[in-house]
Amino acid sequence: MQRVDTVRLAQRCMEMCDALAKCTEEEGHITRTFLAEPTHEAHRLLRAWMEQAGMAVQVDAAGNLRGVYAAEVGNAPRLLMGSHIDTVPDAGAYDGVLGVVMAIALVEGLAGGKLNYAIEVVAFSEEEGVRFGVPFLGSRALTGDAEPLLERADADGISVRQAIRNFGLDPERLAEARVQQPVLGFMEMHIEQGPVLESLGQGVGIVEAIVGQSRLQLAFTGRANHAGTTPMHLRQDALVAAAEWIALVEREASATAGLVATVGQMQVKPGAGNVVPGEAVMSLDVRHADDTERRMAVELFLHRAQEIAQRRGLMLTHSIRMEHSAVQMDVALTARLEAAAHAVGQHPLCMTSGAGHDAMVMAQQFPVAMLFLRSPGGISHHPEEAVLVEDVAAALEIGCQFLQELENR
Ligand SMILES: [Zn+2]
Repeated sequence: MQRVDTVRLAQRCMEMCDALAKCTEEEGHITRTFLAEPTHEAHRLLRAWMEQAGMAVQVDAAGNLRGVYAAEVGNAPRLLMGSHIDTVPDAGAYDGVLGVVMAIALVEGLAGGKLNYAIEVVAFSEEEGVRFGVPFLGSRALTGDAEPLLERADADGISVRQAIRNFGLDPERLAEARVQQPVLGFMEMHIEQGPVLESLGQGVGIVEAIVGQSRLQLAFTGRANHAGTTPMHLRQDALVAAAEWIALVEREASATAGLVATVGQMQVKPGAGNVVPGEAVMSLDVRHADDTERRMAVELFLHRAQEIAQRRGLMLTHSIRMEHSAVQMDVALTARLEAAAHAVGQHPLCMTSGAGHDAMVMAQQFPVAMLFLRSPGGISHHPEEAVLVEDVAAALEIGCQFLQELENR
């Protein structure tokens, strides 16, 4: 494989992201939800770039655009690369999209040279869960797990099935979207969407695991009463109990490596300035790359809440709203990615991802590896989301070497 001009390819990636940013449902903003009209234009652009790079392109029944770069011989295994092209409302230009165009750029870098494995670049149609309130429609089609979502409806009552039809595709052919083995793995490049790489002065990171997550709702119930006539020692104030507990959650999470815990919502009843709060209902979001650590943390937080409730004469109730396990990246494929980085003189940070990605779904059936790129300011899901062209070049250099390492597998 000849030396690839990754700086030029990185610039090209930036241009491709700019062009895709113009495919939007909202003039002046970047909004592109699952199979909305502008997806046609995004597909047109991506298809042209993929074909230029020598890929055979088709759109599957879930709206995933898929370009296959054939191997030097038939019947070879394939490496999957890519990310998603849907966005949150008023998004930035790089979340998801960057990983798709970088995968195309890596194939461009081959300049027509064939490998002993095929490459399939996937532009997943849906990852964010905006339109149908459920994420990963695109990747779930590749793992054969999208069928149960077909009857889900969006805010206008349009089902996934109908949305697929409206886009000009045939939902009856969803099963054909499933990836056929043999597959070497799935490699996703994505912006970090957080501040860790930047805070350590690193441009690129290698993901070892995507954190597991628990979401709960808790309520302290005391007694609402007159703020003037109820002496301090005769109160059952739900809000001060909540305040005490929230500060404790922060303290415990700060003291536990790799743990993040957030109380992001609270409703106080009755919610008047001159009434002692009778009820405080809160959300709790707990994440860790180790499921045991996460479960222990949730137990501890509940236990502490119970102690506070008891001491203050309140009642505590809670319910678990959502729980999903951490997803480990494939050890061997990740080691290959790391070896590729070292071979080109880079030492990316090994880290966990605090956000979900397509790689999470793909990991259920294929070996997966993930490369993170620094997010300037840690900003994402926001118009100011950015990426440094030198980080894109560095990641592409690792990517090129990774393709070479796989050739020598
Ligand atoms: Zn994303």
